[in-house]
Amino acid sequence: MAAAQKPRYVDVTNSSLSVNCPNCGLITQRFLDHCRNDGYKLWPSSTMASEAFKVWRDADPTRRHASRFDLEIPSEPLDTTIDYAARAHELGIHIFPNSNYPFVICTGAFFLALAAIPFSSVARIVLAVIGGLIFLYGVVGWVLVEDVRMYPSDSPRPQGEVHH
Ligand SMILES: [Zn+2]
Repeated sequence: MAAAQKPRYVDVTNSSLSVNCPNCGLITQRFLDHCRNDGYKLWPSSTMASEAFKVWRDADPTRRHASRFDLEIPSEPLDTTIDYAARAHELGIHIFPNSNYPFVICTGAFFLALAAIPFSSVARIVLAVIGGLIFLYGVVGWVLVEDVRMYPSDSPRPQGEVHH
C-alpha cells in the first residue's frame, strides 16, 4: 500500500481499518506493521504504524473506539430496550394491560370452586354469589376499564381487533 512507502502520510479520509495486502492480496489490518496472512511488512516499524493509526483515529470521532487490531470499526452499542406496549400498539397487536385484576379474577374463581363442593345449598349459594361478584369485578376492571384506558382509540371490547 502507498502508506508503507510514505510512512509520514496516512490517508485519514479512508475510513477502512483493513487493507488488501500488496503481497498476498488478502485482507489484513491496515495499521499493523505485518500482514496477518503472510507476514509481509506493511509499515517500516510497529511504532510508525501505531502513530499513523492514532492520526487516523483522531481524525474522526466515530473512530474513537477503533482498535488497530480490528478489521472493522466497532459499531455503536445498540440500545436494545424495547417498549413492547408501544410496539404492539403500532403493529395493531392487542396485549392485555399490566394489571392486578387477574388476582381478583382468581380469587373469584376460588370462591366459585368452593361453591362446587357439595356443602349445604345455602352455603353454596352464598359462596357462588361472593365468588361471582368478585370474578365479575375482576373481569370488568381488567377488560372493560383498564383495557379501554390503554387502548382508547380501539373499539371497547378486546374482540374489536377486526378493524385491521
Ligand atoms: Zn499478505
